[in-house]
Amino acid sequence: MTADNTSFDVVILGGGSGGYACALRASQLGLTVALVEKDKVGGTCLHRGCIPTKALLHAAEIADAVRESAQFGVNASLEGVDLRQVNTYKDEIVGRLYKGLQGLIKSREITVVQGNGRLVGPRTVEVDGIRYDGKHVVLASGSVTRSLPGLDIDGERVVSSWEAMQLDTVPQRVVVIGGGVIGVEFASAWRSFGAEVTILEALPRLLAAEDPSSSKALERAFRKRGIVVEANTAFSGVERTPSGVRVTVESGETSEADICLVAVGRGPHTADLGYEEQGVELDRGFVATNERLQTKLAGAYAVGDIVPGMQLAHRGFQHGIFVAEDIAGLEPAVINEADIPRVTYCEPEVASVGLSEDQAKAAHGPDEIESLTYDLGGNGKSQILKTQGFVKVVRRRGGPVLGVHMVGSRVGELIGEAQLICSWEAFPEDVSALVHMHPTQNEALGEAHLALAGKPLHSHS
Ligand code: NAD
Repeated sequence: MTADNTSFDVVILGGGSGGYACALRASQLGLTVALVEKDKVGGTCLHRGCIPTKALLHAAEIADAVRESAQFGVNASLEGVDLRQVNTYKDEIVGRLYKGLQGLIKSREITVVQGNGRLVGPRTVEVDGIRYDGKHVVLASGSVTRSLPGLDIDGERVVSSWEAMQLDTVPQRVVVIGGGVIGVEFASAWRSFGAEVTILEALPRLLAAEDPSSSKALERAFRKRGIVVEANTAFSGVERTPSGVRVTVESGETSEADICLVAVGRGPHTADLGYEEQGVELDRGFVATNERLQTKLAGAYAVGDIVPGMQLAHRGFQHGIFVAEDIAGLEPAVINEADIPRVTYCEPEVASVGLSEDQAKAAHGPDEIESLTYDLGGNGKSQILKTQGFVKVVRRRGGPVLGVHMVGSRVGELIGEAQLICSWEAFPEDVSALVHMHPTQNEALGEAHLALAGKPLHSHS
């Protein structure tokens, strides 16, 4: 802290992934930092998003493993799922990580200002009547659950992901509105826990931002698991019934359930924070920035979910680090949005990086693009796990890999190599020269590149 306790090199509004990463990096670079947070540092990712939901999904994986154990010659029976115990396990993980993060922030001598912040000057944030002045200000106020007209989240029967991750009993029947990332992750976990699940998705397919081949494989796998997927089905109304909810879609059809999850996207949290009054330009609620994440207000940056693009914690981390380095004069390279990896942790997992085949064709011309799909049927480790799916690689003809798309249990763990391949603009010929460990699922990536380089090993040419 500086002498007058309220002047800093950087004042950050919001202590989630983007905000705290910026704080940690800025202090590492010798800058004084105030981090304003109204709730808990760590934000949505740590307390209400990535971490708790992935703990739920891990418990779901264990339920599946027990239920299906006889297939592997191990006789066990699933007696039930105690969601209270699952929640204890999940909350312990969050608690430990939260403690670790607080320790880290303290050790870097970052001043955490607890309370509701508001931008009251071009580089001034006010909290409880005290003004904190920065040479730079970083807006990192994150996102909130979005809903639809006529879809009021009551937290009991009509729930957001926040209430959904705190249920203490497994619902018998669930309707999920929205087949995006949150929708399919919860649908997957609840199905593993034994619920009957229906997903209503307005667009023609689940995970519409992914390559269509990934959506198709996921839908097939979900149907096999007994999850009902209603695509091209837009929500129109919901009403409470004595035992739960009745959800109506635009065709007039209804579905009854114990609870209904609203998963129709998250919106930027930028209203009533003083942004526009101070000259920060908003575009449909998101903060407009240039590629260096500078807003229209000199000295003010924005990071994370309030910046148009994918709302992902690791994108937020990268934004935060980038901005801290930019402020410190290190001139970091601009972040390429397509190089940010995506993983949806449902069963089977869906992972991707770079361009989809359609995006690649649109960017380079249809004749310039070549793709290859390697079926996990040829991958020993995937067969051992009894998972199905594929690795699809999209390349520029005679050129580098532009995108990798994968479906299958645990394929999220393969995204690291796929990301290096895309980011370093490797050619399939380069990757095919690298030895991949046998037997691993990682080998499937190697095989796909071998095949695309014209020398398939365990696949037909
Ligand atoms: P999303 O944008 O991924 O999906 C919302 C879905 O709701 C879309 O498919 C949309 O077509 C559908 N929809 C909209 N209106 C509808 C209607 N009237 N009827 C039926 N369907 C309708 O948003 P989300 O799943 O709510 O997730 C929010 C954000 O959180 C996303 O940006 C996501 O990337 C992020 N998130 C990421 C992860 C991860 O990386 N694993 C996990 C959870 C959330």
